[in-house]
Amino acid sequence: MKELLKKLVQTETTAARGELAAAKVIADELGRSGITIRIDNWDQTRANVIAQVKSAGHKGSLLFACHLDVVGPGEADWKYPPFGGIEGDGRIYGRGSADMKGGIAAIVTAVKQVVEAGIRLQGDIILFAAAGEETDSCGVKRFTAQRSRQAKVGGVVIPEPTDFEVVTAHRGMLWLEVTTKGKAAHGSTPQLGVNAIILMKEILSELDNFKIPFEPHPDLGGYSMSINTIAGGKALNVVPDKCSIGIDIRTIPSQNHQEIIGSLTNILTKLRSKNPQFNAGLSVIREVGSLETDSNCDFVRNFCSVVGAARTKAVGFTTDGPYFTSLGAPVVIFGPGKPELCHKPDEYIQISDVEKAVEHYKNIILKFLT
Ligand SMILES: [Zn+2]
Repeated sequence: MKELLKKLVQTETTAARGELAAAKVIADELGRSGITIRIDNWDQTRANVIAQVKSAGHKGSLLFACHLDVVGPGEADWKYPPFGGIEGDGRIYGRGSADMKGGIAAIVTAVKQVVEAGIRLQGDIILFAAAGEETDSCGVKRFTAQRSRQAKVGGVVIPEPTDFEVVTAHRGMLWLEVTTKGKAAHGSTPQLGVNAIILMKEILSELDNFKIPFEPHPDLGGYSMSINTIAGGKALNVVPDKCSIGIDIRTIPSQNHQEIIGSLTNILTKLRSKNPQFNAGLSVIREVGSLETDSNCDFVRNFCSVVGAARTKAVGFTTDGPYFTSLGAPVVIFGPGKPELCHKPDEYIQISDVEKAVEHYKNIILKFLT
């Protein structure tokens, strides 16, 4: 297990490098136990891995859904090389060790051990590891599009780092870009142009008072909205013809993304009706739904009893989880590693936590599939 995790961390799976090399590491590992694996490869280096352990088929299958990609190492200095997979102090250091190659190493090892022990399963194990979770969810979108007509899935487990808490809810994410279009002119004759930055000022003041209606969620609380990027102008002596802002909205389950987009579009229409020179457009950069699994359903209750959790939890980060609700199965997030280490320098995972996760995943498989 430890060597597999090191190999996975050493395989850089940033957006620039793609996931294919890591997909091959997993395929090799599972292939040695005779498990059927398919690598779905596109755009040269992009890849999903899908492995399926067949059963008698009397029960719905259990889907373990991971992601292969990692975010980049960032600008900060690392004490350990980000893609070294270095072991020290009982930990494995490196980008992706916690988010979420530790979880992948644990579930791959658990599945191998179940298969090698010759345990007779009543439902299939499906092990999926996606491309692009950190960027555009391209991998999970391909997977769910291909699977929609397949046999029944009884439950979905996402081995993301939750430090062994059972997570059933998280907020959604709506990333928008609003761009104003003006007319370029020489900086000495601004009256001949239309300044896109000045047009953006009108939008920014409208957004100051913009509120999205919501009912507070018992676990997730409210939504958040923040304008996190702005860009405009090319040179000091040119009237800018373009200005863009990026808006990061984190939504709760009662909020509808299309309605939010509609309200913002209405603001742009209103500004245009007041000022004929006003010209602006809105585009969706990324969108992930919120997740809310019924904590009282049989699957979640049984899951909690297997892993010894007294309650379920909601978290602030998002996952590919909402995409799996189209399969009609409950989704829980549960895995080794501390969520606060994700995307940070000197990310690590405790080796003993990954070992503990192997035992948990085996128990989960035995509970639901035998
Ligand atoms: Zn993750």
